[in-house]
Amino acid sequence: MPFHSAISPWLPRLRVVLVGTQHPGNIGSAARALKTMGLARLVLVAPERFPHADADALAAGADDVLAAAEIHATLPEAVADCSLVLGCTARDRRIALPQSDPRQAARQVAAAAAAGGEVALLFGRERTGLENHELQLCHAAVHIPANPDYSSLNLAAAVQILAYEVRMAALAAGDGAMSPEHGLAAASAPAAVRQPVANHAQLEGFFGQLAQTLDAIDFHKGRSPDAAMRKLRRLYLRAGLDEREVRILRGVLADTQRMAMLAAQRTPGDDGTPRSS
Ligand code: SAH
Repeated sequence: MPFHSAISPWLPRLRVVLVGTQHPGNIGSAARALKTMGLARLVLVAPERFPHADADALAAGADDVLAAAEIHATLPEAVADCSLVLGCTARDRRIALPQSDPRQAARQVAAAAAAGGEVALLFGRERTGLENHELQLCHAAVHIPANPDYSSLNLAAAVQILAYEVRMAALAAGDGAMSPEHGLAAASAPAAVRQPVANHAQLEGFFGQLAQTLDAIDFHKGRSPDAAMRKLRRLYLRAGLDEREVRILRGVLADTQRMAMLAAQRTPGDDGTPRSS
C-alpha cells in the first residue's frame, strides 16, 4: 500500500512543485520533508542541478520520493491539469494576490483535493523566489508569517511547514469529505451538482481568448493590456470557475469576437458602404 494512502485518499492529488531550485541538497531535503508528512509527489521545474549526489544524501530514506520526482521544463506544463495552484512566497510582491497562511492554505488544499481536483503548491528559487509571472498563475499566495525582519526560510524548511499543515488538515478531515466551510467557493457545492473545477490549461485557454477579444473590441484604446489582464485574471481566478462556466464564458467571447468582426466589415470603408446597409 502506498505510504500516503494511510490517512487520506486525496493526498496523492497534491503535488509539491519546486521551481528553478539552485541547490540540489534542498531537493533532497524537500523529498524528506514530504515523506515524513506522508506526501509523495515531488515535481521539479527546470532544476539547476539534478540528479545530484547532494540530493541523494539529504533525501536519506526518502530516496523513493526523489526517484519518483517528475521533471518539467516549464511551470505551465507542470500545473496544466491543476484546479488549485498556490504559490509560497517569502515576501509581499507588487502583484496583489489573495494571501493566506499555511494553515488556511492547507484547508484550501484539502477541500479542493477532496472535491477531486489536482492541486499544486509552488516553491521558488533560493535566491529570488517565484517570479511575478509565475505568481500570476496562482490562485493565491501563501506566506509563512515569520519574523518580519528575517522572513525568508530555507526552501526545504518552508516545504516542511506546508507539508505539516497539509498533514494536520488531512488528519482533521479523516477519510471523510471536508466540511464546506473549509473550501473555496468551487469546493463548497454539494457533490451531486458540482461540475469539475476548471484546470490551469482550461483557464489559460480562456485568458488567451479574453485577451484576443479585448483587442478585437479595442478595449485598451492604446493603453498597455497588461494591467487590465492582471486584474481580470485575479477576478476570474478568485471565482473558482468550473468547466461549464468556462465554456459559457468562452461562448460569450466567441460571439463577441464574431460581432466585432461583422462590425469591422460593416464599418464604412474605402467604398463608403453605409453601416446599416
Ligand atoms: N530570497 C527569496 C527567498 C527564497 S526562499 C525571496 O525573497 O523570495 C525559497 C522559497 O521558499 C521561496 O520562494 C518560498 O517558496 C519559500 N519560502 C521561504 N520563506 C517563506 C515564507 N516566509 N513564507 C512562504 N514561503 C517561504
